[in-house]
Formats: sequence, C-alpha cells, structure tokens
Amino acid sequence: MTADQSDCLFCRIVRGEIPATVVYKQGGVTAFRDIAPQAPTHILIIPDQHVSGVAAMGEADEQIVGRVLRVAAELARGEGIEDRGYRLIINQGQDAGQSVPHLHVHLLGGRPLPTPLV
Ligand code: 5GP
Ligand code: ZN
Repeated sequence: MTADQSDCLFCRIVRGEIPATVVYKQGGVTAFRDIAPQAPTHILIIPDQHVSGVAAMGEADEQIVGRVLRVAAELARGEGIEDRGYRLIINQGQDAGQSVPHLHVHLLGGRPLPTPLV
C-alpha cells in the first residue's frame, strides 16, 4: 500500500475531489454507488488507502480488506438485499476487465444475477 495517489480516480473520490454518491465512510473504508449500475444495488467498497488491486496486497492490507468485506455485508443488509442474496466481485487485471486500478469490491444485488460468472 502506498500513500494517496494524486491521479487515481478512486483516491480522488475518497478525497472528495470528484463527486460521488457516498453511502459509507468510516474507519478507512469508503463506499459509493457505481456510476453505471448493473443492478438495482451496485455499490463499490474501497479501502481509503491506495492499493492497486488484490495482486498488490501486502500483509499490512489484510485487515482493511477484511473490513471492506464486512462493510459490504453491512451495506447489503441496509439495502434490504440480504435475504434474497447478492454478489461481491473483485476484478483483478486486464482479463477480468479491471478498469480502475484501486482495489474495489462490487456489491451487486436486487435482481437475480446470471450464474455462473457474469
Ligand atoms: P472495474 O471494471 O475496475 O472492476 O470497476 C470499475 C467500476 O467503476 C465500473 O463499474 C464503473 O462503472 C465505475 N466507475 C468508473 N468511474 C466512476 C466514477 O467516476 N464514479 C463512480 N461512482 N463509479 C465509477
Ligand atoms: Zn487510489
């Protein structure tokens, strides 16, 4: 993990430099609605500190990424989609279609999601 990256889109959202519909911001984790939602609930949950993806995680990042997952579950409960279920997705790298190099978990739900994969 490195310090805030000035040109990273999601670091800029964390700093409030780019507007976003922020639904959670506490304890080093920020969550905001995806600008192009793929489901009725589509929230991105990120560590405030820049880490480019799961491949770049170090041991020091384990705790905050665990917290990212717990916040995702908490937000799903708040969105009322816990009972029906939801999907958490982390894209890593080119083949997965990762377009923003700041680790983020997609929370998708509110409709039946295609299985398997996307
Ligand atoms: P990835 O493809 O990297 O896993 O996901 C990046 C996600 O970020 C995409 O779902 C995309 O719609 C979303 N996104 C890209 N730019 C913005 C933005 O400026 N604001 C918000 N809220 N979401 C964004
Ligand atoms: Zn970043």
